[in-house]
Amino acid sequence: MTNASTARDGQQAKERGADTLDAVIIGAGFSGMYQLHLLRDRLGLKARVIERGDGVGGTWYWNRYPGARCDSESHSYSYYFSDELLKEWEWSERYPQQPEIVRYLNFVADKLDLKSDIQFETTVTAARYDEAANLWRIETDAGETVSAKYLITAVGCLSSANVPDIPGRDRFKGDWYHTGQWPHEGVDFTGKRVGQIGTGSTGIQAVPVIAETAQHLTVFQRTANYSIPANNHPLSAEFKAWARENIDEIRKTMHTSTNGHPFLIEDRKVFDVSAEERREIYEKAWEIGGLRFRAVFQDILFDKAANDTAADFLKSKIGEIVKDPETAKNLAAIDHPFATKRPPIDTGYFEAYNRDNVSLVNLRETPIVEITETGVKTTEREYDLDIIVFATGFDAMTGSLLKLGIVGRDGVSLNEAWVAGPRTYLGIQVVGFPNMFTITGPGSPSVLCNMPVAIEQHVEWITDCIEKMEKEDIDRVEPTEPAVANWVDHVNEVANATLLPEAGHSWYLGANVPGKPRVFMPYAGGMNRFRKICDDVVARGYDGFLFTRDRADSRTETVNA
Ligand code: NAP
Repeated sequence: MTNASTARDGQQAKERGADTLDAVIIGAGFSGMYQLHLLRDRLGLKARVIERGDGVGGTWYWNRYPGARCDSESHSYSYYFSDELLKEWEWSERYPQQPEIVRYLNFVADKLDLKSDIQFETTVTAARYDEAANLWRIETDAGETVSAKYLITAVGCLSSANVPDIPGRDRFKGDWYHTGQWPHEGVDFTGKRVGQIGTGSTGIQAVPVIAETAQHLTVFQRTANYSIPANNHPLSAEFKAWARENIDEIRKTMHTSTNGHPFLIEDRKVFDVSAEERREIYEKAWEIGGLRFRAVFQDILFDKAANDTAADFLKSKIGEIVKDPETAKNLAAIDHPFATKRPPIDTGYFEAYNRDNVSLVNLRETPIVEITETGVKTTEREYDLDIIVFATGFDAMTGSLLKLGIVGRDGVSLNEAWVAGPRTYLGIQVVGFPNMFTITGPGSPSVLCNMPVAIEQHVEWITDCIEKMEKEDIDRVEPTEPAVANWVDHVNEVANATLLPEAGHSWYLGANVPGKPRVFMPYAGGMNRFRKICDDVVARGYDGFLFTRDRADSRTETVNA
């Protein structure tokens, strides 16, 4: 199919013994699948994916909660490395639902024959770097140890569920679920009294769907949130044809744009236009729906006064939709600038509060005291519940990595190396962990970007780096400490130039997990800028990376200084 498959039996792979792989990839979502394809089919390496679930999909395999839907437009939420794949697959709606995304990833996995090299239902329990052998020893819960030169983590940014340790949680006699660990058979809410804790992107999607069948839904809101209607709809035949015929143009836009979406942020600033014109622009963007709203002015995320105009508009919409004044007031009591937390998009979220069977509890006024055997108790009263839904998010960006039990050179674990917060170079590599690559790791644009765009860039960069190493007989790559220090400074600098750090309780900062170091984790400088930085690093001879080679006299030489 692509030029990738032509080198399936490529010569670059060194013989490393029958039981030794060239690469182990952890995770079979968007990133792990593409990484397997490129290493195996373009470079001809022996690579295996180890995956906890019994199918492909990564975050979409686990997040099966009611209403789960992507907030990237479907025609851009696809692999763009293969025109053939793009032409063969047809999305049905503007925003793809979770089951359709899983179907899409299965379609790709089957098309590229990936499943034969994915070991499902296997959890990595440890990954240790054996310095003498220059191999990663990866241990699994199946009791085996797999060895590989390269270790590539493809565990996603939002995969480690955060179930808050609310006193009494284990006493609850009803059923409880975290949205990110949703039962495959689904949950029947019919006739049940349901309590949902959390109103982030997930909670906002779940509320209207749970409300359809629950006897009563009580939503426990700690931080009020903005939300923009998705205006989701079936895709027309014309649109589908347009997307198929304009692949190059769409790809170009996604690669040029700040966030990897198939639209660009407007050049104009908020105060370049009159208040009346601004209102019209916001109204039109509200009608169009989705993340395009954020793109109508270029300074929304940089200038607080500009941001206030968008925030005020969105708060006024809540007042227009929600009939009960007290509920509307609590929903609009938002304490952070617009888009400084990931802006949710919804289908009927605020409207759901007009139903008789939905009520809101403002936890800022009446915090949760404990979970009892029969429900949730706040400082005001107890709510009797049959089911509690925790839509409480994730130990984002680092949680899944730190759970892997990774130990690098000199026995230093990743948890120790990152005790004060994650430190990477380009989000790709960590000092002391040679030949380990983290796809969309902390310090990369990842969650601030349409994920497949960020993933493809990282996977291709990593593949090129490994190809160079295999061709030039290089044994190790890792970043230099000054390169990491500069990158961490740069990540902070670009975040601080925006309003993003103003949402002090956001998971971007790790603030949603008690005890987690507060470090702004994703790269906020833009995907387009990040791509150029990565390309420039390569053009300057992999500036900031150290390549080393073992010599016959058992000394190690530096390939680039
Ligand atoms: P989230 O944004 O972290 O939201 C978690 C919610 O739970 C927040 O409202 C939080 O309140 C609340 N919460 C956490 N601990 C709590 C506690 N102890 N007591 C009461 N409330 C508590 O998580 P998420 O909604 O799962 O979304 C995470 C990310 O996943 C999103 O930002 C997005 O990037 C991604 N996502 C994307 C889509 C999509 O593509 N459409 C859908 C879902 C998720 P505080 O704000 O006060 O902490």
